[in-house]
Parts: sequence; structure tokens; C-alpha cells
Amino acid sequence: MSKVLDGTAIAAAIKQEVAEEVRTLAAKGIRPGLAAVLVGSVPASEIYVRSKVQTCADLGLFSDRITPPDTVTTEEMLDLVAALNARDDIDGILIQLPLPKQVDAKVLLDAIDPAKDVDGFHPVNAGRLQAGRPALAPCTPAGVIEILKRSQIPISGAHAVVVGRSDIVGKPAAMLLLHENATVTICHSKTRDLPSITRQADILVAAIGRPGFITPEMVKPGATIIDVGINRITTREEFDRFFAGNEKREATFAKRGSTIVGDVHPKAFELASAYTPVPGGVGPLTIAMLMANTVRAAKMRRGL
Ligand code: NDP
Repeated sequence: MSKVLDGTAIAAAIKQEVAEEVRTLAAKGIRPGLAAVLVGSVPASEIYVRSKVQTCADLGLFSDRITPPDTVTTEEMLDLVAALNARDDIDGILIQLPLPKQVDAKVLLDAIDPAKDVDGFHPVNAGRLQAGRPALAPCTPAGVIEILKRSQIPISGAHAVVVGRSDIVGKPAAMLLLHENATVTICHSKTRDLPSITRQADILVAAIGRPGFITPEMVKPGATIIDVGINRITTREEFDRFFAGNEKREATFAKRGSTIVGDVHPKAFELASAYTPVPGGVGPLTIAMLMANTVRAAKMRRGL
């Protein structure tokens, strides 16, 4: 039987720890603050930002939701970032992606004070992470490590195969696993004979962005599978490919006309010793780690 790694429960434990730290800081007159910048009206982004702001309130952090119009220019956004960099009540700056086409996201993310870069996307934090110095690590990969550690899955000496090399998930996940003494292989779209490599994984991290891409033939029996992917499927054909006969999913699909599947085919989970489900696996960790990073940034900025 494969063990389900319950990301919702792990995230709840982390949030409780963050709330305790926030109370300790409050006794010293410090309230960590997060600026959440939401440009325009992308429905998914609105949901994410609402959830981040709500979690701040739940845990006792200050938050400021800033909503520039979708006609905003790069220059206007740079002015906003400069103002947030200078604000003493703001410890973390989050710019919800994606941004409208006319805004240069790279220039903007590079303008964030690395000390307030709670998403961990700034090249200075990426460099610090690589050099093994204290850094604000990207939230989703940091969440992957928390899941493994808190589930007592040995990382040291394990062969971890990460499929995906994006700057926000694949690359930093590989670096964090390396720091935990895994032997790490990074795969991508140009990797030759991918299944022969994924079949060697003791820990398989899928961050690809393609529904059900990792199939049972690609998994070593007994591996731990971490599925980072979040893909919405809307057609009956796709639904049947992944969830035929699954009554619970059928009900969601009938009600909403869509459901979420990860980058791993549900059949592949059956071979794993442990795996993160989608939804309810890695996803909930991302917000928990954002809160943890904001508190960490607040402490680091004050030399605590
Ligand atoms: P990107 O699109 O930036 O990167 C995808 C990576 O997958 C690329 O490195 C790409 O390779 C690789 N890839 C694509 N096709 C193949 C293939 N056929 N074989 C091998 N590798 C392939 O995606 P992200 O890293 O931003 O996100 C990955 C997934 O994680 C998405 O489903 C996303 O929704 C999800 N996600 C979930 C989060 C959460 O909170 N749980 C947070 C962030 C993302 P190449 O570089 O060669 O193009």
C-alpha cells in the first residue's frame, strides 16, 4: 500500500509554528508584513492572492494587498517596488505572476530588495542558495523538502530525480535536495530516454506542467513520488484517461466541468511507497512556506 503524504496536514503544522513565532515577535513589538501585488484581474491569481492575504490574517501577519490596473507600465511597477523596498512595515514583497505582457517581469523581480524577496526568485537569493549561504528559498521547492523531512523519508544518499528545470521549481528543488545530500539528476525536455532515468529514482520529483506525464513504466517500485504539477483538465477524454471509475472525482467533474491532475498519472502512484496527491500534496505547502519566509525575512532584516 502506498502512503499518502498529506500536504494539508503538514502545511497546517508549519502554519501553527509560524503563528507561534509571530506571537513571540509581537512581544518584541515586531509584526512581519507582506505586500501582495496583484496586477489586473486574472481569476486564478485573484484566488491565490486572496488565500495568501487570508493566511496572513489567520497567522497574525500584517498584509497589504496592492492592485495596480492591467494597463500598468514597467516604470510604474518599478516605482511601486521601490516604495515597498523602502517601507519599514513590509518585510516581504510578493508579485503575483503572470504579469501583463507589457510589464518586464525579470526587470521587476530583480528590482525587489533581496532581503524582502520572499518568493526567492531574485538572482541574489538563487546564488546564495547555490552557494549554501542563508537565503530565502523559493516556496514550492522548500515545501517539497519539508514534506520529505516531516514524513521521515530519508534524503541523504538517495537518488533524487527532478523532472523539470524551471527557475522557480525544478532548479531550486534540485539544489535543496543536493544540500540534503541526495544524489541529484535533473531532467528536462531534451533528456534522452527519460524513463530509464526516472526508473532509477528513489525520490522522483515531477515539475513538468503536463497532465499525468509520469506513467507507471517510468517509476521504480517503492519510490517516493513528489508531484508538483497542477493541471486543470476539462475534457471527458482526459478525465477517463486518469480517473475512469473514480466516483469522487466524477462528482467534482460533473459539478465543475473540470478537475485537477498532477504531472503524475494516478496509476503510477500505486507503485510508490509514498506520494503526494494532487490536490492536497505540494500545493498547500507553497503558502505555508511563503508565511515562513516572511517571518524569516522580518527576523533577518532586524538581525535576529
Ligand atoms: P515550467 O513550464 O516553467 O517548466 C517545466 C519544465 O518541464 C521545463 O524545465 C521543461 O523542460 C520540462 N518539460 C516539459 N516537457 C517535458 C518533457 N516532455 N520531458 C521532460 N521534461 C519536460 O513549469 P514550472 O516549473 O513553473 O511548473 C511545473 C509544474 O508545477 C506546473 O504544473 C505548475 O502548475 C506546477 N506548479 C505548482 C506549484 C504548487 O504550488 N504546487 C507552484 C509552481 C508550479 P525545458 O526546460 O527543456 O523546456
